[in-house]
This record gives sequence, structure tokens and C-alpha cells, in this order.
Amino acid sequence: MKQESILVCGTGIAGLACALGLSRAGLPVALLGPRQTPPVRAADDYHPRVYAISESSRALLDRLGAWRLIEARRITAVEAMEIHGDADGLLDLSAWQDARESLAWIVESGEIERALQQAAQVMGIAWHEDKFVGLTPQARGVQVDTAQGRQLSASLLVGADGARSPVRVAARIPHEYTPYGDMGVVAHLDIERPHQQRAYQWFTGDSVLAVLPMPDTAQGAQASLVWSMPEGQAQAWLAQPPEAQQAYFAAQAAAITQGRLGRLGLRTRPQGFALTLERSAMMAPGVALVGDAAHRVHPLAGQGLNLGLGDVQTLIQVLTARAPQQHLGEARLLARYRRRRAEPVLAMGLVTHGLHRLFGTSCMPLAWARNQGMSLVDQLPFIKRQLIRAAMGQ
Ligand SMILES: Cc1cc2nc3c(=O)[nH]c(=O)nc-3n(C[C@H](O)[C@H](O)[C@H](O)COP(=O)(O)OP(=O)(O)OC[C@H]3O[C@@H](n4cnc5c(N)ncnc54)[C@H](O)[C@@H]3O)c2cc1C
Repeated sequence: MKQESILVCGTGIAGLACALGLSRAGLPVALLGPRQTPPVRAADDYHPRVYAISESSRALLDRLGAWRLIEARRITAVEAMEIHGDADGLLDLSAWQDARESLAWIVESGEIERALQQAAQVMGIAWHEDKFVGLTPQARGVQVDTAQGRQLSASLLVGADGARSPVRVAARIPHEYTPYGDMGVVAHLDIERPHQQRAYQWFTGDSVLAVLPMPDTAQGAQASLVWSMPEGQAQAWLAQPPEAQQAYFAAQAAAITQGRLGRLGLRTRPQGFALTLERSAMMAPGVALVGDAAHRVHPLAGQGLNLGLGDVQTLIQVLTARAPQQHLGEARLLARYRRRRAEPVLAMGLVTHGLHRLFGTSCMPLAWARNQGMSLVDQLPFIKRQLIRAAMGQ
């Protein structure tokens, strides 16, 4: 009988984590995608993208042997979150309120990728440095065509190939796409006052400005910015020369943050990402999607990658718990994966979309209620504990 195998297409964080987890579970797996090893950075030089990693994602990276490969001094534990409404609403969530040390960890994207690549190498996972271009369904699995003219067969093809997912398109997996008309702009910041291991978020009506704590450097205290704002405003800002970008940001940040962290200045050039709400059917016979290939949410809760790593954990559980007669690409098995992910994916989409709409409205009763609601929740320890657990992916 032909040996069953899994091909993971996409070598970002979701794809690497998936291949590693499957390999550690004893399943035969190979990777398909470019190998771009992020460069080793000097002590005070930080990768432009950082992620807020939840407890459940941190635990997964730890089980995969990757967490310990990330230099501890480049990781910032978030001990509290301060969320400001557009009037006087304030919600303060601290790890101690739920008897924990941290709510999340801020880690550079490049460091997570490098650690996962090293762990994949240690596990001896085969890596086809090539690109997916098409697939042909087979009786048990799929045959994959690559850009270099190879044909690879697999019982199961995992599409971890990002938001535009060529695998999703080729497998004709239904997909819904709603543009927000907003961009998420990211940059690293100089901050005048220490962040005290806190993450800060300001809802301003038409934008959400988040400041995430990062390690201090010889240049002074540092934080990371994620600012979601209307696309036109973002494009106009990003098109400005550096001095004008800096001046615009300093003035806007001073008005929004009211000096909470002292003066804020851009340390790196801002980069913008178009924001969308996306959902897919997550599987077809012989094909499963994980990460941004399967769904995308608004970054205001910092949960997109965490949701993708949740897919990875569930897919591994479903595949390893299959009955002996079931093959890896069987539609009934993959439908079980889709059912298990339906609720968390829908819930995260609803929460982020709901918050985006609630704070985007200028309707007076709602504008008043959202700020009153935040301040009310701030006084309810039980609800705050639930929010803390949700932020941690539990
Ligand atoms: C502004 C912003 C801030 C965010 N902040 C957070 C946060 O704080 N926390 C969080 O959890 N999430 C956050 N997210 C979401 C997060 O960025 C994504 O969810 C995550 O990067 C998706 O990872 P992925 O591995 O699924 O996809 P990707 O990182 O897009 O990786 C896809 C991979 O597929 C490969 N690929 C593409 N086409 C092919 C092909 N034809 N053949 C082979 N390989 C292919 C690519 O080379 C790449 O390696 C944020 C998003 C934005 C926009």
C-alpha cells in the first residue's frame, strides 16, 4: 500500500508550526514554499513586524521546541492592557486580576519564523523550495504541480499560504471577503515614559491606535505601533516624506494619547496593510486550510496569528485521533476539523468586527453607551477575568 503523506504549502509561521506539530505527532510531512531565513539582528535592531502572542500560542510554540530558541531579552511580557474609549471610557485589565504573570508576549515575527525554521531543521522535515501552482484531485489525496515543474502527491495538502492562498483558489474552497476600507499601519516608536509592560489602545471613533511594549534599547524606551485608520488617511500619511510623517504622527499621537506615554516619535518608517474580514469553508477533500489562508480578522484584538495557531493545534488533534481505517485527506475527517474551528473563528470575527463597528459609529446613544459600558465593565472583576482569559486564547 502507498505510504500516506502530508504536504504543507506555505512557510510562514502557521505553515512551519503545522509541519513541526505533525512531524512531532509522528505523521510523515514535507514543506513546500520559499525558504527566507530572517537575518540575525544586532542587539538593538528589531524586525518591523511584532505580534502579541497569546498563552495558548506560546504553549504551542514551546511544545514545538521553538519558544526556547527565541532570545529571552527580545520577548516582552505584557502584564496589563489599558483600553481607552473615545470619551472617558477606560478598561484596565491586569494579569494579577486573574492570578497570572502575563496577558500576552510581544515577539518579532522574524524571530518566531527563525526559531520555527531551526526546529524544523532539527526534526529533519523535508522542504521543497518551490512554489505551488496547481492541483489535481486524486482518489485518495491530491497531486500538486510546482513552479519548477515538479509533481508531488500527498494524501493531504495543507494550505498555509497566506491571505491570497493559491491552494484555496485551486481547490475551489468557498471564501467570503469584506474589505474594511481601513489600513493597519505599523512602526516602532520612541516613547518618552517607560511603558511598564503595559499594552495601550485608544479607540478614537474612526481609528484604533495601539501601542505595544517592546524591550528598552540604548537609544531609550521603545514600543510598537499598530494604528488602524481609514485607507485614504493612511495612504496620504504614508506618501509623505519622513519629516512630514514624523510631524503628523507626533501631533496626532499627542492629541489621542494625551501624553500618557510622554512624547511619541517614529523610530522606523511606517508600513501599511489593507484590512479585511475573510472567512472560508476551510477544507475540501484532500485539502485543509490553516492561518490567513482560512480566515482574516481585524487586528484590533491582535488575534489573527493566534487564531491560525489554533487551527494548527486542532488539525493535529483531529488527524492524530482518526480511526485506523480513515485516510488523512478523507472529507469526513476534515469536516470534523472545520466543525471544531467554526465557533472560535466565527466568535473572533464577530468580536473584532463588532468592536470595529461599535467604535466606528458616531450615533450619540451608542457613542455614550460604549464609553459607559467600558467603565462599567472595569468595575466588574468577574467579567474582567473572562476578558483576560479570552485575550489569552483560553
Ligand atoms: C497590522 C496587523 C497587525 C497584526 N497584529 C497581530 C498580532 O498582534 N497578533 C496576531 O496574532 N496576529 C496579528 N496580525 C495577523 C497576522 O499578521 C497574520 O494572521 C499572520 O501573519 C498569518 O500568518 P500565516 O502563516 O497564516 O500567513 P503568511 O505569514 O502570509 O504566510 C504565508 C506563506 O505562504 C507562502 N506562499 C504564498 N504563496 C505560495 C505558493 N504559491 N507556494 C508556496 N508558498 C506560498 C508565503 O511565502 C508565506 O511564507 C496582524 C495583522 C496585521 C495586518
